[in-house]
Amino acid sequence: MTAAVVELAGVTRTYPGGVTALRDVHLSVHYGELAAVVGPSGSGKSTLLHLVGTLDRPSSGTVRVDGHDVSALSDRALSGLRARRIGFVFQQFHLAAGVPVLDNVADGLLYAGVPLRQRRRRAAEALDRVGLAHRLGHRPHQLSGGERQRAAIARAVVGEPALLLADEPTGNLDTASGAAVLELLRDLHGRGTTVLVITHDREVAAGLPRQIALRDGAVVRA
Ligand code: ADP
Repeated sequence: MTAAVVELAGVTRTYPGGVTALRDVHLSVHYGELAAVVGPSGSGKSTLLHLVGTLDRPSSGTVRVDGHDVSALSDRALSGLRARRIGFVFQQFHLAAGVPVLDNVADGLLYAGVPLRQRRRRAAEALDRVGLAHRLGHRPHQLSGGERQRAAIARAVVGEPALLLADEPTGNLDTASGAAVLELLRDLHGRGTTVLVITHDREVAAGLPRQIALRDGAVVRA
């Protein structure tokens, strides 16, 4: 069995005010997997994403990401882990407006301390992998929604993270562009990237090899 990139043991997250968004979650995701986290609104998907993305810590239980116990790390060490080992893709793309796509992607390597020329070279390679080699100088507003999401994916993977977290990556796209983005995620997975897709869309989840289903803060299918 391969090692786990994500390992949750007995994880509970209770927010101030008393809402328990996750209760006693046990979950492992192994290096090389492509899995969906699926569930209706309010089931705890975002809370799980924040914990796995090291943006939040559990109220009790253990979260391990890429071999590190998240609760045991300082904020600084946690930011380092997040910057170097986790790639994020969001529904709203979050590309810098007015900045050429090449530099948007190259900025994904800023925290890794890579020199500019090398950042740009690796960004161009990542953009080539997502089918945007012909759009390096375009600004985000000159791209279609599907192209913007592909650029955002290139930025997320340019540093070769241990884990790619995609939060509703097709939520803002028409059916055809959404299908192309999912195909790209499958393609990256085929080349070895570990991908976790958070979605409320059962159809999106059904197209992926594994579905982790949440309901009322509990894992009902893993
Ligand atoms: P999902 O992403 O599946 O919609 P969430 O993880 O956002 O689910 O929410 C799970 C539960 O936790 C919901 O009942 C929600 O209202 C509650 N919740 C989420 N974030 C907070 C917060 N910051 N403070 C209090 N309650 C929250």
